[in-house]
Amino acid sequence: MQVIILICNICPRNCRAERNISPGFCGVGESFRVARAAPHFWEEPPISGVNGSGTVFFSGCNLRCVFCQNHNISSGCFGKDVTPAQLMKIFDNLVSKGVHNLNLVTPSHFVPMLSKVLKEYHSPIPVVYNTSSYEKAETLRMLEGLVDIYLPDIKYFDDSPAVKYSSAPGYFKIAFEAVKEMYRQVGNLCVNGEGIAERGVLIRHMVLPGNISQAVSIFSRVLDEFGSDAYISIMRQYIPCGAAVKMPPIDRPLSSREYKIVTDKIFSLGFNNVFLQSKASSSEIFIPDFDLEGVDIF
Ligand code: SF4
Repeated sequence: MQVIILICNICPRNCRAERNISPGFCGVGESFRVARAAPHFWEEPPISGVNGSGTVFFSGCNLRCVFCQNHNISSGCFGKDVTPAQLMKIFDNLVSKGVHNLNLVTPSHFVPMLSKVLKEYHSPIPVVYNTSSYEKAETLRMLEGLVDIYLPDIKYFDDSPAVKYSSAPGYFKIAFEAVKEMYRQVGNLCVNGEGIAERGVLIRHMVLPGNISQAVSIFSRVLDEFGSDAYISIMRQYIPCGAAVKMPPIDRPLSSREYKIVTDKIFSLGFNNVFLQSKASSSEIFIPDFDLEGVDIF
């Protein structure tokens, strides 16, 4: 019998972990692990629509930011291991609820396995790939024709916060190459007559307190590369979580003044498709319960 071993090099961490034996930096082995699968209503309007986005939260993470609001699943790796067949049943269950899309949240460390599942599954609704953007472009090529919508959150422009908060030197260069590959595959966001996204890229950035220059640098580069019609989302939802509660200046929420400075500067760049968040979005009530809803169904 042929034994296939995954020696994992699929993301920029390049761990070379034998994930059938022990996990690498992302913290999970070669089986899918999922913490929650349920309709979610707090993405941007073209993603959540009225029926919700069918989020599937994968456990583990290859970036593991110190401020992660989902830290019990990202670095804690809480979740349930599921087989490819069970993952397809989880997808079916979400589709039956009438959601607008299947929203795969933090799936980067499962790309080869996911590409096999998506080839077999033939999703009847758009597939969304929701990522921290710490991706190898060559790995993303495995998803060509299988993912309809990319939601890359570009987290940092400078190396200093990338190293301090995510131990990821060279983050921006890597992430931007990944976003270029996403654009090559699906182009700019296309929204149908009902205001629901069908295909394309929507670029996010969550503004961190004390780090507002990152947003302006990131979106200036986005403008140069993708033009003023690129869809962007300037997120205000930051709340200090995990280790960040003891790490000034990210030990506090973003101030209204900081968010205004960022949004004024980015509007002055001339973007035509910009999503903003209200101050109320910076609240723990928007953090989902990771209680295996939609996963513990077998
Ligand atoms: S996916 Fe995980 S194991 Fe593979 S290289 Fe990245 S962090 Fe390491």
